[in-house]
Amino acid sequence: MKVFIAVDMEGATGIVHHDQLSPEGRGYSVGQRYLTGDVRAVIDGVTSVIPEATFVVGDGHGLMRNVILDELPAHAALVVGPSRPENKPLCQCEGVTTDTDVAILVGFHSMAGTPRGLLAHTFVGALVSDWYLNGKVVGEAEMDAAILGAFDVPVVLITGNSDLEDEVRSWFPTVPFVSTKQVLGPTAAICYPPAFTRPALQTAAAEAIRSHLQVAVAPYRPIPSSPASSTVIDIVMHRREQADKAVKAPDVQRVDDFTIRSTGTDPAEAFRKVWRAVAAAMDEPAAWMV
Ligand SMILES: [Zn+2]
Repeated sequence: MKVFIAVDMEGATGIVHHDQLSPEGRGYSVGQRYLTGDVRAVIDGVTSVIPEATFVVGDGHGLMRNVILDELPAHAALVVGPSRPENKPLCQCEGVTTDTDVAILVGFHSMAGTPRGLLAHTFVGALVSDWYLNGKVVGEAEMDAAILGAFDVPVVLITGNSDLEDEVRSWFPTVPFVSTKQVLGPTAAICYPPAFTRPALQTAAAEAIRSHLQVAVAPYRPIPSSPASSTVIDIVMHRREQADKAVKAPDVQRVDDFTIRSTGTDPAEAFRKVWRAVAAAMDEPAAWMV
């Protein structure tokens, strides 16, 4: 079995603040350990059911050099490096292939605009007000599940902040969800220690795989907004100037002052196009591109 693990950081064990999320922060090295512990627990859970399983871990937060490589087992590989469009056009999903069997999302957070959401944003907080997939506002978890679905890869487990669970249930009611912390607000949560979350994640990953082997989970396919188009992504940006820059990228259209659009035969194609526009819209090279 070939497993892809898409990794974000805001929803990892113990993470509540930007200080833990980028290398300048004093809490970053501890944050890296928490995040890596979550990833390792999920790998160990899957491996307990299928010892010959192999893993590709897509480091998908910020600079995308967060997961500590030497904490991963020999049967895992790590996709490291920033999600510039020429590097990783699928961002957090780079590394998935059509021969991947299942995907797991680790360390995810709620979408931009979530009331009292912990570190809530959608892909690029400085840029994205709302991200629409086929006319519906989505967060990173749903967008990634749709991209993975374009590769026929089902998501069998999602882990992250408690406020993400309702968001996930709205589009994927049956997916197992493990909460790493109980969210109180934008920068606070009741955190469960690694001594609790690691066994919980390991058990959930093992159960998710066992359950998938009994009744296969279907890849996620978002409902088209119109019969004519298979995938439409609209991004509403905070400022008109950002949309002005974004539309200079190829293959995107302007919808209104603040909104750009890409279309594609599937969510992966539409995402690749829009991601180039997102990169073009930054005022200066963003941290996640270097
Ligand atoms: Zn994120």
